[in-house]
Amino acid sequence: MNTRAHCHCDRVLNYSYDEAAEALRCKRRFLEDRIRDLPHQKRGESVSFCPCELALIQAKTSYVPAWVLELSQPAPTPAPTGATPAVTALASIRPSRGRKRQAAAATG
Ligand SMILES: [Zn+2]
Repeated sequence: MNTRAHCHCDRVLNYSYDEAAEALRCKRRFLEDRIRDLPHQKRGESVSFCPCELALIQAKTSYVPAWVLELSQPAPTPAPTGATPAVTALASIRPSRGRKRQAAAATG
């Protein structure tokens, strides 16, 4: 089992507690208090985070209001063929002629 399956780093670029806290704009204590639930690396007493782990922490701790999620949804799929289109085709629209005659009568 690959315990680093979440990591896509092609070279080692690890952040310390302080560097990770700086990158995430949080307090070091926030990371320390939750380290058991956060993706990280541990070698002895040394803890480090790769960019993939920071991205996972960022995603886990991001708040996105429901209306933003709604705007992020893909557009609804069009009605199946055979259904009456709700909007008149643009090519079938013809300009009105009544207004032009009135304007010509007023100036001429
Ligand atoms: Zn990584």
